[in-house]
Amino acid sequence: MKAIRGATTVAADTPEEIRGAVKELLEEIVKRNGLQEEDILCILFSNTSDIHSLYPAKAAREAGFTHAALYSSLEPEIDGALPLCLRALLFAECAKAEHVYLRGAANLRKDLKKFSVALDGPSGSGKSTVAKLLAASFHILYLDTGAMYRACALKAVKEKLTNITEEAVKPLMDGLDLKIEYRDGTQHTILDGEDVSEAIRRPEVSMAASNISALRCVREKMVEMQRQIAKEQSCVLDGRDIGTHVLPDAEFKFYVTATSAVRAKRRYDELKAKGYSVDLSELQKEIEERDRNDSTREFSPLRKAEDAVLVDTSEMTIEEVLAFIRKKIQEKV
Ligand code: C5P
Repeated sequence: MKAIRGATTVAADTPEEIRGAVKELLEEIVKRNGLQEEDILCILFSNTSDIHSLYPAKAAREAGFTHAALYSSLEPEIDGALPLCLRALLFAECAKAEHVYLRGAANLRKDLKKFSVALDGPSGSGKSTVAKLLAASFHILYLDTGAMYRACALKAVKEKLTNITEEAVKPLMDGLDLKIEYRDGTQHTILDGEDVSEAIRRPEVSMAASNISALRCVREKMVEMQRQIAKEQSCVLDGRDIGTHVLPDAEFKFYVTATSAVRAKRRYDELKAKGYSVDLSELQKEIEERDRNDSTREFSPLRKAEDAVLVDTSEMTIEEVLAFIRKKIQEKV
């Protein structure tokens, strides 16, 4: 007999989420260990105290695990525990025990390898929306590296620097006071002690970011910060050079793209919703110019890493992109 461990998380304390997570976890344990239902003698569940709406054992019965003895218990509240987490200990007659950690639950086991996800691609491809949702669904850190280049651009704008050259920008970089902070899981970009998370989204900062990010002194500084942030924990980073340069050993790499017309329309809708008045064809031109800038620059140009999975989102919804990428990751973690 073997004891097989499994753990997963839910996005919210709802019966549907718990049903889905328990079913997915048990089916994955069964699949990876080549089990038949009669092989499973009993399953013990425990869950963190922020889950109340359904016993995992009940969800297991509903998922068709009617043969095994089932038991559920509540874990004591422990500071720093992974939230909304469900664990299973399954005793079965089988030859091997492959433990299964899904939906970021691998974070429970510091001895298990952490993983990094690199999402690269041009602007408007949908990668930051997906990166944010992806990180939330695995309960891991999201780092929007574009925000960092935008902050550098904003600094140059504030200093009224028009001459974007290595010589002119280097002193700015040497004295740069840039911090990335997280509040309730959301990234905040702090420049000179001020939260500039909104200001860096202004349309005029986009082109300035593309220009300043071509400089070696800027890239070296930002890449060092990004590697430092990514070093200790599982994370999703989105940008242009994550898979090729920042984290060349990332466990998962995706290159997310779409036609420039589709990307321009997405940006247009986004900016309009924020109250900016923009011209669609101007926006498309600017996007194409940024693409050209980003992919022809000398240092770490935008390009697909050879081992990255190409995801063309032109005809896909965000939910479809997210599901596709999640599936690829879940096959391995
Ligand atoms: O992704 P976002 O549009 O916010 O990025 C702004 C600019 O920052 C991009 O046009 C690109 O030039 C630059 N960037 C980069 N490398 C990254 C992320 C962004 O050069 N990893």
